[in-house]
Amino acid sequence: MEKRDYYEILGVEKGASEQDIKRAFRRLAKKYHPDVSKEPDAEEKFKEAQEAYAVLSDPQKRQQYDQFGHAAFDQMNGGAGFDFSNFDFSDIFDDLFGGSFNFDGFGRKGSSRARRGSDRLMRINLTFDEAVYGTTKNISLDVLEKCSECNGKGGKGEHTCKTCHGSGVVTQEQRTILGSFMSRTTCPDCHGEGVSYDTTCTKCHGRGSINKRSDFDVKVPAGVDTGSRLRISGKGDAGVNGGSNGDLYLEFVVKDHPIFIRDNYDIYLELPITVTDAVLGCKKDIPTLYGNIKLNIPAGSQNGDKHRVKGKGVTHINSSSKGNMYVVIKVVIPTKLDRKQKKCFEELSKTNLETNEFKEINKYL
Ligand SMILES: [Zn+2]
Ligand SMILES: [Zn+2]
Repeated sequence: MEKRDYYEILGVEKGASEQDIKRAFRRLAKKYHPDVSKEPDAEEKFKEAQEAYAVLSDPQKRQQYDQFGHAAFDQMNGGAGFDFSNFDFSDIFDDLFGGSFNFDGFGRKGSSRARRGSDRLMRINLTFDEAVYGTTKNISLDVLEKCSECNGKGGKGEHTCKTCHGSGVVTQEQRTILGSFMSRTTCPDCHGEGVSYDTTCTKCHGRGSINKRSDFDVKVPAGVDTGSRLRISGKGDAGVNGGSNGDLYLEFVVKDHPIFIRDNYDIYLELPITVTDAVLGCKKDIPTLYGNIKLNIPAGSQNGDKHRVKGKGVTHINSSSKGNMYVVIKVVIPTKLDRKQKKCFEELSKTNLETNEFKEINKYL
C-alpha cells in the first residue's frame, strides 16, 4: 500500500505552523487512541498519526521530509517508515488523558533501557569529476551530542526515586476523561528511570543531550552517482542511557559533464565527424576520463555507429574494475560550402552514390 503523506494524515497544509500540527495530532490522538476508540482500524490510524507527528513536530526531521519525502527515513528502519519508538509524546498525552496514562508502548518512554540515537540524512552535491575520481568532503551539521556536564543523565545528585522506590512504576487511581480506574503506570517523577536528581542539569535542561555542530572530513570513494548513499557510522544523533549513536547517511547529487554522459559505470561520448571522414575513414583523438586516446573510424561509417572502448568507464565503488566507454558517431552534414567545396560535391553528384538500400524504394517510383 502506498504510504500516505504526513501532512495529509494530520489534515494540515504543507506550511502549517507547529501549533497547527500539534493541534491536529491532539485531535487524532483523542479520536483514535486504541484504548479509547471503537473504530476497527483505530490502532493503525493512531500509529500513522504518531509517526506523522514525530516527524513533522521536529523542525530538522520535517525539513528532511519536505526535501526527500518518505525516502528520507526509508533506509533507517528497514523500510518500515520513521521509527517513532523513541519519541516522547508525554506532553501531549499527559494533558489529553490526565497525567501518567499507561500506554504500554504507545508513546511513553517507559524504562531506562538504552536507546540508539537517530540516524541522519544529508544531501551532498558533487561535480562529475569528484564522483568519478573520488574526493574528500568537509561535512558540517548539527547533531545531538551527549551532554558533557551531566554525562547524558540530565541532572546531578543521583538518588533512588522516592515516588516509586526505584521500580519506575507506580500503582494509582487514574482520573481520566474515560472515568476513574486503578492502574500501574510509569512513575511520573522519574519517567520510569527509577532514579531522580537533586538538580536538573542547567546545560541541557534535563534532556541529557545538546545540539552541537559536528565538523569532519569524509572520503567519498570513486564511482558514486546520483542517489548513492554512504553510511558514516556513529555520526548521527547521540544515543540515550548509554545507547549507541545513530548513523549519518550522505546522499549524493552529481552534476552533468559538458561532453561525457554517464550511465551507471559506462560513459557515452557523442563524436561529431565530417561527411568526408565518415566516407573515407580517419583516425581521431578522443578524450576519455583517463587522457586522450586514438580511435580508428573505418571508411563508410554511419551516423549512430557505436565504438566500445574497453575499461575507460567509471571505477566501480570499492573495486578496481571499470565500466566501458562508448563513442557514438554523429556525421555532421555541412550547411555552408565555399565555392571549391560546392564544386566538388557537384562533381560527386554526377556519379552514382546509390547503394542497395535505395533499390526497394525505387521500385515504387
Ligand atoms: Zn520514580
Ligand atoms: Zn546535561
